[in-house]
Formats: sequence, C-alpha cells, structure tokens
Amino acid sequence: MYDAKAYSAASAVEPLAPATIQRRDLTDRDVQIEIMFCGICHSDLHTVRDEWSSVMPTTYPCVPGHEIVGQVVAVGSAVTSFKEGDLAGVGCLVDSDHSCDNCRHGVEQFCPDGTFTYNWPDKHLGGVTYGGYSESIVVDESFVLSVPTNLDPAGAAPLLCAGITTYSPIRRWGDIKGKKVGVVGLGGLGHMGVKFARAFGAHVVVFTTSPGKKEDALRLGAHEVIISTDAETMQEHAGTFDFILDTISADHDINAYINMLGLDGNITLVGAPETPLPVSAFALLFGRKSVSGSLIGGIAETQEMLDFCGEHDITADVEVIPIQTINEAYERMLKSDVKYRFSIDMTSLRAG
Ligand code: NAP
Ligand code: ZN
Repeated sequence: MYDAKAYSAASAVEPLAPATIQRRDLTDRDVQIEIMFCGICHSDLHTVRDEWSSVMPTTYPCVPGHEIVGQVVAVGSAVTSFKEGDLAGVGCLVDSDHSCDNCRHGVEQFCPDGTFTYNWPDKHLGGVTYGGYSESIVVDESFVLSVPTNLDPAGAAPLLCAGITTYSPIRRWGDIKGKKVGVVGLGGLGHMGVKFARAFGAHVVVFTTSPGKKEDALRLGAHEVIISTDAETMQEHAGTFDFILDTISADHDINAYINMLGLDGNITLVGAPETPLPVSAFALLFGRKSVSGSLIGGIAETQEMLDFCGEHDITADVEVIPIQTINEAYERMLKSDVKYRFSIDMTSLRAG
C-alpha cells in the first residue's frame, strides 16, 4: 500500500477537507494512474451529503470523484492495453465479476458484483472504494479507458460520467436524425446531451429554468430553448417530442415533460433526485408514452463514446478549479451556477 493525498468528507454535514488515503500495491492486472483532472458530478454531492441514503447510504470518510483523467505511471506484469505515459480515464466503475450475463453483454454497470469507483465495498483493501478527488488511483486494466490525446484532458474528464450517461441513452433510442429531442436541465449532463443529440442529427430543444443559459444552449448546439416556467411556450410544444432526456438533479414535475411527448414518445431519466417522482397514469396512457431510466454505460460503450469524441473533437465545457475551492464549487452547483462542469486540476492537490 502507498499513501495518496485526497479530499474527503467526514460526515454528511461537514465540508470536504484534505486527507491521506491508502491505495493498493499493483496486482499483475492493475494500472496505476497519476490523476490530472477530475470532474465534479452532481452524484458526488448527492453522495457526500448522503442524499441517496434510502438506496445507497454513504460510508464515511467519503472520497468522491468518478470523472478521472490522468497519466499511467505503472502497470502490472499481465497488463497488455496500457503502458507508462498513456493518457487514461476512469469512470464510475472499477471492477465487476467479469463473468455474469450483464458483464458478457457489455453492461458491467449492472453486474450484481460490480464495484463503483467510490462508496462501494473495496474487495482489495476492505472498507469502501475512494474516488478521484485524489492524486493517484489503482484500477484493474479492464476498467481503464483510453483517452484520445487530441482532447483537452480537463474537458475530457467529464466524458467519463456526464459523457457516457448521455451518449448511451441517445444511442440506444435508435436513429435520432431529424427527430425532435428534448434535453431537460442544462448542467453537466445536460450540456453533453445537447452536444451528442446535435452530433447525431436531432432537432435539439433545451428545457431550462435558467433564462441566462439561453445563449449558451444555442452555442452548445440547441436549435431551440424553452424556459420551462413559461407555460404558454410549453403548451405550444405539447405533444411534439420523440424523445426527452431528463437530467434534473432535484424534485420536479415529470408530467410536464411527459405532456411534451408525441405518440410513442419516451422520456428517459438520468437525473437521480433523492425523492420519488409521481407519474400521472393518464399522461402516459394518452399517446402510449413511456418513462425509462438509464445508468452510465458499459466499458466498451464508454470507449466507443471517447473515440467518437476524439474524432469529432467533443469535450465538456469546463471551469477548471483548484481542489481547495471544492466546497464553494458544490454550493455553486446547487445554484445551477456552473458552465457547465467543474474540473479539478490535481496539481493543486499535489502542491497543497
Ligand atoms: P448539474 O450539473 O447540477 O445539473 C443539473 C441541472 O438540473 C441544473 O443545471 C439545472 O438546469 C437543473 N435543475 C437543478 N435543480 C432544478 C430544479 N429544482 N428544478 C428544475 N431544474 C433543476 O448536475 P449533473 O451532474 O448534470 O447531474 C444531474 C443528475 O444526474 C444528478 O441527479 C446526478 O446524480 C445524476 N446522474 C445520473 C447518472 C446516471 O448514470 N443516471 C450519472 C451521473 C449523474 P437549468 O439551470 O438548465 O434548469
Ligand atoms: Zn457522475
């Protein structure tokens, strides 16, 4: 084991603070990564504050972070896909049983014995896994992604969660070229959803509660922007959407968006508010509409997404911050004041 600097939360009500954690010595299948950037996902905040206690209670101390990009500094003797110096990524998953039906079908995120990057039982060291708010991480090579070197690493880090979480349901929907696609909430996930939906040829409409984001939404690729509190415009678009991706992190009226769908339209939830969302049966029945959910994506699909981003020069729009301002960044994220993802520069942690 070796020591690594990190930022951790000691409880749901305390700010994140500097800490030292242990990382395992490399097994023959492991890759050791010196972390360059880690994005701040709203899931980090939900977890730190134990907002998902009914489903996934938080074990403290908690070191979040699952949008990791860094440089490979060492590899185990059996590692074949990575070598020292490679640009590597780690997302929300660090291990699985490698053998169940879900793993064999490339959806490791649903492996019953999978390991998430933080707040999950650590099979090597005991306790729970610690994420990317850290200078270093050790991960089984099957869960390490190759990051295209033409991409800015600070903007590439959020692809590892916000990117794949929006890419996967958009691809799974089918050919969205020419379809009317809504993206609800212009935050970290939402702005990536806009970029991917646009890249695949959809007519993209952003629903936002923040009128100040309108110009940005258009610049990011939206064709239209609807301020969701504007009842008249909402009514004009009712019944016209083929597919809607809902990225809202807080409680909201999902029926307002189900009403936007046309015949056989689907709304996919990727946002994970802490309380259940009531769904009106009638909103679904009239028009045979459906509500579904989606959780990140498998490893092969994540690599496919990264390669797609490399080819099309797609990254997240980031505000790079030193780790010392992480607690302010959380407060700003809660106020929807981030354009459109914070990316932590880990040189600040090494220097601090
Ligand atoms: P984020 O950057 O904070 O963006 C969330 C956006 O939702 C905000 O920018 C805001 O957009 C909108 N919003 C926030 N509060 C709202 C409210 N009370 N009513 C209406 N709209 C509101 O968060 P994120 O990192 O994109 O994550 C979004 C959600 O997805 C979180 O719950 C996160 O845990 C979840 N998530 C899920 C997965 C998955 O695999 N399914 C993966 C990652 C994250 P506007 O200002 O445009 O209104
Ligand atoms: Zn995330």
